[in-house]
Order: sequence, then C-alpha cells, then structure tokens
Amino acid sequence: MSTPPAPQAAPRIQAFRGALLHFLGDPDELGASAHEYFDDGLLVLHDGKVAAAGAAHALLPGLPEGVELADYSGKLIMPGFVDTHVHYAQTDIIAAYGEQLLEWLERYTFPIERRFADPEYAREVADFFLTELLRNGTTTALVFATVHPQSVDAFFTAAQARGLRMIAGKVLMDRNCPEYLCDTADSAYADSKALIEKWHGTYRLLYAVTPRFAPTSTERQLELAGRLLDEHPGVYLQSHVAENKSEVAWVAELYPWSRSYIDVYDHFGLLRPRAVYAHCLHLDAADRERMGETGAAMSFCPTSNLFLGSGLFDADAAKRHRVRVGLGTDVGGGTSLSMLRTLDEAYKVAQLAGQRLSPLRARVLSGDARLGAIALSRRPDRQFRRRQGRRFHRARSGSDSADGSAHGQHGRSHRAAVRIDDARRRSGDTCHAHHGSARIHEVAALSRSRAIAIGASSRPPQDAPGASSLGSIGS
Ligand SMILES: [Zn+2]
Repeated sequence: MSTPPAPQAAPRIQAFRGALLHFLGDPDELGASAHEYFDDGLLVLHDGKVAAAGAAHALLPGLPEGVELADYSGKLIMPGFVDTHVHYAQTDIIAAYGEQLLEWLERYTFPIERRFADPEYAREVADFFLTELLRNGTTTALVFATVHPQSVDAFFTAAQARGLRMIAGKVLMDRNCPEYLCDTADSAYADSKALIEKWHGTYRLLYAVTPRFAPTSTERQLELAGRLLDEHPGVYLQSHVAENKSEVAWVAELYPWSRSYIDVYDHFGLLRPRAVYAHCLHLDAADRERMGETGAAMSFCPTSNLFLGSGLFDADAAKRHRVRVGLGTDVGGGTSLSMLRTLDEAYKVAQLAGQRLSPLRARVLSGDARLGAIALSRRPDRQFRRRQGRRFHRARSGSDSADGSAHGQHGRSHRAAVRIDDARRRSGDTCHAHHGSARIHEVAALSRSRAIAIGASSRPPQDAPGASSLGSIGS
C-alpha cells in the first residue's frame, strides 16, 4: 500500500494593487495588443511566483481572507528592466570628464579596472552596483566584469545572494592595453572556460564570453572566443563595435584584410544568436544585414553615445535589416544606471537622427518582449531544479521562456521588488559621481508618474533564438 502524499503547506499569498503594465510582444508587430494595462490592477503571488495579474475588481473577490495586500495605488507595477550593456567595474568613473572613447579608456577605465585584481574591492563594488541597479528597477543585466577572473566570481556571488538573473563575463584583452590588464589568448580561454563551468546555468546566472573589442584582442584570442561559444552552447557573447570613428579607423589598420569592423567579428564566428554588441553606430548596410542574418543583437546606449560624443544610433536602419535592439546604460561611459533616463535619452537621439521612437516602441525595443511580460508560473524548470535542488519555475506566456518568478531564490519577493522613489525623482534630473567612497547619487528621471517595478520576468530564455530576447525593456 502506498503512503499518501504529505499534505502541502498552504502557499504564502501576496497581492499588489496599483496600475499594472506589461508587454506581450513587439508593438511594431502586434500594435495595441502588444501590451496589457490595468489602471487599477492586481498582481497576485503564490510563494513569490506570479499566480494572477489583471483588473483588481475581477481578482480581489477571489483573494482569501487575511492575504497580504500592498496598496500601490497611483504607482505603476511592471516587470523589472533589462540593461543589455553595462560595466560594473566602471561604477566609480561614471561621468569622468572630457574625453572620447580611446582616451577615455586610457585615462579613466584601465586604471580603475586594475583595482579589480583585489577580490575584496571587487566584492565591495559588485554589492554597491547591484544595490544601485535594483534601486533603479533593473533586475537583469548583461555585464562586463574586468580581465580578472576574480571580478566575475565577486559579481556572480553578489548576484546570487540577491536572487538575481544576471549575465556576465571576464574581459578578454591580450594587446593594446596596459600590461597590468593583459591576459593571453590561452589564459583567457582557460579562465573563461573555468568560469563557464563554474557559473553558467548555476542558479539564475549565465555566462557571456567578453572580448572587450577587436582592437584589444589578437586574432588568436578572437578565434578562441569563437571556440568557447562552439564548445558551450547557450553561452552569450558581449562586445563593442563601431562606437567611435577613430576606433573604426584603428580596426581597419589592425585587421587590414577585413571588409569592415563587423566583418572582423564575423570572420571569427562571433556573429550569432546570443551575441550582443554595444553601440553599432558607424555601420553600413552590409554590416547591419549581416547582423540581421546571423541573429546578433545591438545594444543601444544613448547616454554613453551622447556623453562620449560617439554618434547617433540609427534605430530605423536596424529595423530595416531585422536586427534586434535592446537598450543599455553602458555605465561608466553612460551617465546613469536608470533605464527610465536611458529611455528618455533614446527618444532624444531618435529625434536628432530625424526618427521617431514611439512610447510603446521605446518600452520594448527588441523583437522579443517576453521578458516584459508578467507571466504565470506553471511548470517546474527541471534543469535548474536539478542543479540546485531548489524550487524554480519556468513560466509560460505564449511561450515557455519567460520566468514568472517575481523574486529570488527563497520566496523573498521584496528583493526584486524595487520602488523608484518619488522623492528622488522629484529632487531633480541629476547624477553626481565621486571617485572614492561617495560613489554615485543617481536620480531617476523622465517619468512624472510614480512607479514601482517588480522584477517579475527577468529571465532570458536559454533556448530562445536570439540574444536580443535580453532586450525587452519596459518603462
Ligand atoms: Zn561598454
């Protein structure tokens, strides 16, 4: 006779009331049905997983008595933002003055990145950076660490402790950089491989092979970067391309055989799904066509492009060539970790380029908005459950790839529930940076409406057909 199953404990039920907004698809394709908005909405969680989302009047009567109901009336509840390009190690040099890209790297970036050889320093900055990301409503990001493997360990350890979905990698850089930051093609390969084995798919963390950009890698290093991707399906790639005209000219000198900057990456097999390139400003039609064909994605980083005087991103051209685009803050070249402020600047860049970025388009900016959806949790994610022996759920929302988890690992929904503070927003649209202990005082800008962002579905699908699923961004 079989033993009857043990009675299951009743789930912890939480409900959040407020204006509710989430995205189901790309507004360019689906029009008004790409999003759902409930002026008086209710989000219901069972053990931290999304159980229901909709109009409050429809859902309230079904709530059991005594349920925890948080009232955010007058505020906006939505999934967490996804930042598709940011350098956690550059947190301390945000808004450093007065240079364009190459001088900026030399003068500010490389000296600060040197400090990440010290794991304790890396840990301290990773903690601060993730606190700031959450304060700005960002629950997932594609993140550059530094050349030091310990900088990746520090970052992932801090992300795991907060229950966050993060994608990051060790920078590969074996030439044209100070000796203190130089790896070799072989050491970069070995270190990256070890980090992939340690972190990729561990809990909610994913690895990205991270050549800084073509000028700081030898051909051998780029070749081995391609090999890492071939050997580890599901791993991401992140790099920079065509940010600045001097940089483009330099790449033409370093790779005289190449047709273009993008062609260098293409030659080494680095254009593919799950490859995300920051900037993509000085490209031609053939470059964009190739990115569209291969499934490589663009990260549009407007505050950085304006701050470093790099150029204006051509969103219409990307769309014509079917290239997926996400938004990135690119801190420290970028001036704010706030995706709201980044959206604001993206709109202005489009205006300067003679284009129009519709509010809804600006909210998604990618071909895959599944991450912008508040999705219901329905079935277990076996892979993660196997690995961790803990409870994870894969959500379904028209597809199986969005994560309906509204929180971290242990039912602590408050960890991913981020409130963008009204007082901060009202205090002005400023960003002060200080070297040293004061760090950043970041003020979210743009929106007059009060907002909270609940990180409901920040999971990039491992099996989705493109890295650009990273890029669905709500505001
Ligand atoms: Zn960057």
